[in-house]
Formats: sequence, C-alpha cells, structure tokens
Amino acid sequence: MVIVAVGANTKLLLRMGLLKKAPQVMLCSRAYFEGMTDMPDAAQCRFDGVPLPGYGWVFPVSNSSANVGVGFLRAGLTARWMPKNARTIFDSFIQIPPLQSILAGAQRVGPIKGYPLRIDFARSPTYTERVLLVGEAAGLVNPVTGEGIDYALESGKMAAEHLIRMFAANDLSIKHLAEYDKLLRERYQRLFVLCDRLRFLYLNPLVLNRVVRSVAQQNELMEVFMNIVIENQNAYEGISARTISKVVFGKT
Ligand SMILES: Cc1cc2nc3c(=O)[nH]c(=O)nc-3n(C[C@H](O)[C@H](O)[C@H](O)COP(=O)(O)OP(=O)(O)OC[C@H]3O[C@@H](n4cnc5c(N)ncnc54)[C@H](O)[C@@H]3O)c2cc1C
Repeated sequence: MVIVAVGANTKLLLRMGLLKKAPQVMLCSRAYFEGMTDMPDAAQCRFDGVPLPGYGWVFPVSNSSANVGVGFLRAGLTARWMPKNARTIFDSFIQIPPLQSILAGAQRVGPIKGYPLRIDFARSPTYTERVLLVGEAAGLVNPVTGEGIDYALESGKMAAEHLIRMFAANDLSIKHLAEYDKLLRERYQRLFVLCDRLRFLYLNPLVLNRVVRSVAQQNELMEVFMNIVIENQNAYEGISARTISKVVFGKT
C-alpha cells in the first residue's frame, strides 16, 4: 500500500492515470522582507493590486519582517489575458501605495518563489488500487484562503487510520479503499463546493466590495465568515438568510 503525498506535483498522478489532465491551479508567489519600520499590527489580506479571484497578503513574521505574497486563479471572463505565472502580479502588488508604505525602507531577503496550489478536491480522485492520496495531492487546499496545511495533516491522519483498519480486516480491496474517499467527502466536500461558489462570487469587484465593507463593519458577521473558512462552523448553517441580509443591507 502507498500513501501519495506529493503536494501540487501532478506529474506522478498524471503518469499513473489518476488525473486525466493537469488540474486548474491557483498561482502563488511570495517573498520575505526585512527592515520594515511601520509594520501593520495584524496580518493583512488585500484585494487591491491582484486579479480576482485572488488576494495579496502581508503576514508579519516579526516587528520588522514579513512574508508578502499573492495568489490568484486564472478564471472568469478575463482569464485568458491574465499572466501565466504569479511573478508579474507579485511585482505589481508590491508597487501599490499601501504596500509601498509598508515596505518603505525594507529589503527583500531570499528569492521570490512561485508555486501552484491544488484546490480541486471537490472534483479530484483520492484513491486507486493500493494507493491513497493525501493533502494537496488530493486537491485539499481551501479554494478561498489558499490554506492547506491543516487539511494535509488531517487527511494524512485519516489515511493512516484507514490503512490500520484495512490491515486489521485483512481487506485491501478497492471497495475498502473507496471508503477512505467517502470519509474525505463527508468531511470536506460541502466546504469545498461552497468555497468554489464563494470564490466565483468575488470575481465581481462590486460584490466583493459590498461583502468586505459589510464584514468589516459587523464583528458578528466577521466571526461567521472566519469560522466558516477555518471550518469551525458548518458553512451551510453559517450562511443563513439573516447572514445574507446583513451582507446585502449592511449594518442595521
Ligand atoms: C506561497 C504559499 C503560501 C501558503 N501559505 C499557507 C498558509 O499560510 N497556511 C496554510 O495552511 N497553507 C498554506 N499554503 C498551502 C500549504 O503549503 C499546502 O497546502 C501544504 O503544504 C500541502 O501539504 P502536502 O503535504 O500535501 O504537500 P507539500 O507540503 O507540498 O509536500 C509535498 C512534498 O512531496 C515532495 N515531492 C513532490 N513530488 C515528489 C515525488 N515525485 N517524489 C518524492 N517526493 C515528491 C515535495 O518536494 C514536498 O516535499 C501555502 C502555499 C503556498 C504555495
């Protein structure tokens, strides 16, 4: 039995025939900067200076250093005109005035690195004969936030536990392997489908501005959204008619 944990490297999965074609990936680029004198006191996720759907981030590492990056998906009506890698977007993101202000006096340390992110769990295979896929190899990166460390750890644990059950039952059949997929779908499918839909909602800057403004003004709403994306709350329960009306009509 093999647990495949190759991240976003799809070559092996394509060669094995597990993937029929290269999946759509989110493109990311990031670098570390040091020597900032006016570091924001919280991590920033920004939608200015990046194509939608996507976002840029400034994650403080210390009082004077940060991980700065961008991630976006080549999707929507303008997809064909978007760059084929994230480097160009990274270069323009760090030129926008708010970033220039944060990075004033700072120096980049280390190279600018680019990565693809597999966000296609909702449509991705997770097993085949004698093989289980975990983490990003199963497309387990959140399509809205680009986070996947927790899913990689969780699915790794789920795969290990499932293998223990299979060996205990002395049953390595494909039917038993398929139960691992069922467990993953029960845990993540609804979240990933919802995040896919949310992501396409914010392809539209008008909708995005409305959502960001409403969420920024209402702590309760911010908590609901944060809890959904970090999976503390069931997404379908969180997005009630009341939540939607708060987003649409703002603070009442
Ligand atoms: C710029 C960037 C920022 C991110 N920020 C966050 C964040 O803040 N929070 C978060 O939760 N997630 C974040 N992520 C996503 C997160 O890094 C991944 O989802 C997570 O690392 C996936 O874990 P994994 O074990 O599945 O794959 P990986 O961590 O990619 O590990 C796969 C390993 O397999 C190796 N490998 C690949 N192919 C082969 C092969 N054929 N043979 C042998 N070995 C192979 C690779 O070298 C690698 O070491 C970020 C990703 C990027 C690109």
